[in-house]
Amino acid sequence: MTDGTTRREFLGSIAAFSLFPLEQEKPDLILHNGHMVTMNAADPVAEAVAISRGRFFAVGKNADVMNLAAPGVRKMDLGGKTVLPGFIDAHSHPAMAGVMHLRMVDCDLRSISAIQAALRERATKTPAGEWVLGFKYDDTKTEDARPLSIADLDAAVPDHPVHIEHRGGHTVYANSLAFRKAGIDEKTADPPGGKIDHDPATGKLSGRVAESAQAFFEKVLPHDFTRDDHREGVKLISKMLAKTGITSATEAQGSPTDLRAYQDARDSGDLLYRANCFINYRFIDALIEAGVRTGLGDDWVRVGAMKLVCDGSISERTARLSAPYEGRPNDYGILVMTEEELYTYGRKAHLAGWQIGTHANGDVGIDTTLRVYERLQRESPRRDPRFRLEHCTLVNDALVARIKALGAIPTPFSTYVYYHGEKMRYYGAERLNNMFALRSFLDAGIRATQASDYPPGEFIPMMALQSEVTRTDTKGNVWGPKQKITVEEAIRVGTINGAYASYEENLKGSIETGKLADLVVLGRDPLRENPSTLVTIPVERTLAGGRWTFEA
Ligand SMILES: [Zn+2]
Repeated sequence: MTDGTTRREFLGSIAAFSLFPLEQEKPDLILHNGHMVTMNAADPVAEAVAISRGRFFAVGKNADVMNLAAPGVRKMDLGGKTVLPGFIDAHSHPAMAGVMHLRMVDCDLRSISAIQAALRERATKTPAGEWVLGFKYDDTKTEDARPLSIADLDAAVPDHPVHIEHRGGHTVYANSLAFRKAGIDEKTADPPGGKIDHDPATGKLSGRVAESAQAFFEKVLPHDFTRDDHREGVKLISKMLAKTGITSATEAQGSPTDLRAYQDARDSGDLLYRANCFINYRFIDALIEAGVRTGLGDDWVRVGAMKLVCDGSISERTARLSAPYEGRPNDYGILVMTEEELYTYGRKAHLAGWQIGTHANGDVGIDTTLRVYERLQRESPRRDPRFRLEHCTLVNDALVARIKALGAIPTPFSTYVYYHGEKMRYYGAERLNNMFALRSFLDAGIRATQASDYPPGEFIPMMALQSEVTRTDTKGNVWGPKQKITVEEAIRVGTINGAYASYEENLKGSIETGKLADLVVLGRDPLRENPSTLVTIPVERTLAGGRWTFEA
């Protein structure tokens, strides 16, 4: 045997070895006869896909893809139905919401008396003295035209402490027993960045506390959710999201508990969406110490950005604005963390290779956050930090230019115009032309995302499309028409842009060979639909990683 032969044989065996897995690869599922809007610019429309081991193996014409069918391959005729990439909710709180749905009273009701009845019913099943907890309360959605009062809650439930979170997540309402347990009385001073409301006439507690004052309750609330509860919560919310066509979501205020819950749900087969789990800044030291940073994980559970909070909320009117709220001349909203605090935590994370996502709603909040990001990049430049501006609601031309220059990513509320229309009057018609500013972002070449912020916002992607395209609420009021975008743009925002926001644009966000097989089959084509009925388009099926996570 000459050296040459040996070498040839050697190369031959290498080639055979490396080809082996490819030769073995046959699709296990073929979807054909569809109208597939791929969001892949190079190949925008397809008829069929072949899927192998959770990824798109081939995307193209019916005949070409059907040629790949081997005996035993499952085939499904889509009957010409429209297919989009799976939707990516770039900012919401699904694991948190799941555990709430499991254990708390859903206060998304239309009158104070209905809320009282629901609380009373829960109280009868709760041992005396134990907490009755509620969530998704929204003062603007009850017919009473006034918020819940401490008297309402005392009347409904006198013998249990009651704690109800506003849907926006920045204020809570409690009864007298709960205030006593939290150690708050009429004379308790407001903590920095927080507010304990009083009745202006009597000076007595109103029942509402805002922002950092919620911490009084945090100390005494039961924290007895078990590890199983958290996994069950993810399981419950998984089904809710899959039903609407969502295949990926960011847990925007995540903790190590959420990260564990996601892994538990993945292992038990209950996780139906890909989770990008942010980590709140309070937990960051231990994780940096352990060598963890953004991106660690797999296709289903991944460590996301570190979360910071700059200002208040839009739905509860605590976002920090440069001009006061309509009809409230001295009210500019709240800053939650100082610029120096944001910088201190931001620097730590930035140097350790973390992406940073800062909650910034008002123009003052966004300006402050951008200043911190600009300083971090100036002092310690990183090649691709993808700084995120969570919500990034109220902008102006100068802010948009700075966002573009920095390559930052805004995650504006997608369903607020449609769903929270009644709150838009606090901002005024003119200001709305610069809020949830997708038109401005896209025109500037900024990759803004779809983001529900559930529970504060609704997460239905078809509602997001309608809200972004029509800028019209359920009563027909138009808010900020200058920010309208097209249906196609809205789909892009909800798919490929969401993937970019978590550094996963090479993995998902479009129907493209090699990418994860995540898609949604719709009952009608959103590109041919009257924009005012987009929300009524039914989701027929959702596929994540080649597995049906929802079938109507
Ligand atoms: Zn949020």
